[in-house]
Amino acid sequence: MNVLVLHRVARGEPQAWADVSLPMFDALLDHLGEGGLEVTTVGRGTGGSRPAICLSFDDGWRSDYELVFPRLLERGVRATFFITTDWVGRADHVSWAQLREMAEAGMEIGSHSVTHPHLATLPRAEAERELVDSKCRLEQALGSAVTAFAYPYGDCSPRTHRQAGAAGYRSICTSRPGFAVWGARTYPRNSVNRHHGLGELATLVAPPAGERFRRQAHYWFRESLKRTLGHTGYVWLRDTLYRRG
Ligand SMILES: [Zn+2]
Repeated sequence: MNVLVLHRVARGEPQAWADVSLPMFDALLDHLGEGGLEVTTVGRGTGGSRPAICLSFDDGWRSDYELVFPRLLERGVRATFFITTDWVGRADHVSWAQLREMAEAGMEIGSHSVTHPHLATLPRAEAERELVDSKCRLEQALGSAVTAFAYPYGDCSPRTHRQAGAAGYRSICTSRPGFAVWGARTYPRNSVNRHHGLGELATLVAPPAGERFRRQAHYWFRESLKRTLGHTGYVWLRDTLYRRG
């Protein structure tokens, strides 16, 4: 199962690193249809009879409701939306009423913590609050069980995996690239962002083995840079290099 992770879909020129333009998103949706893929959610998983793909969206941007949701409805497919609960109702983010409407229409709503911290470096009790309180808040607001979680910044450790499991999450998403094995508790995800072009759609949707290896090597290189520079230093370096490039 190929779990893609997207963030904000931008009507105009993508601004942030993780943004995807609307034409690119539309092309991605068209490509799913042409590829005959089973489009599923993180929690629902796959029957396994044909290649499956899952679209997931992090952070609860307003574009989830305004741009993504209507397009999914039109195509009769579902996706998973990971919500940072303290950001609901903020400028450029979804509201609780919009989330309820999306959940009622069959979209999966998962947790992306309360405040979007680096969970692995938080003291144990604070990390637990982020995992448990966000789940409770979503369940109270939506009236249904929330069983999927995605780590902010993909930041996780064996301890956070255990804590997320103990909090009741059954599908736990990282930002490590790779293919998800349905039934495993932890799912890698493959990023789609502003640096991908229309020519890369086929590779994004069904990455050949060489591409999977390249992504994993890139991920480990990035992680070792983050460890060396710290998160702030890493983001500065990345943004500086890409501005010049
Ligand atoms: Zn996030």
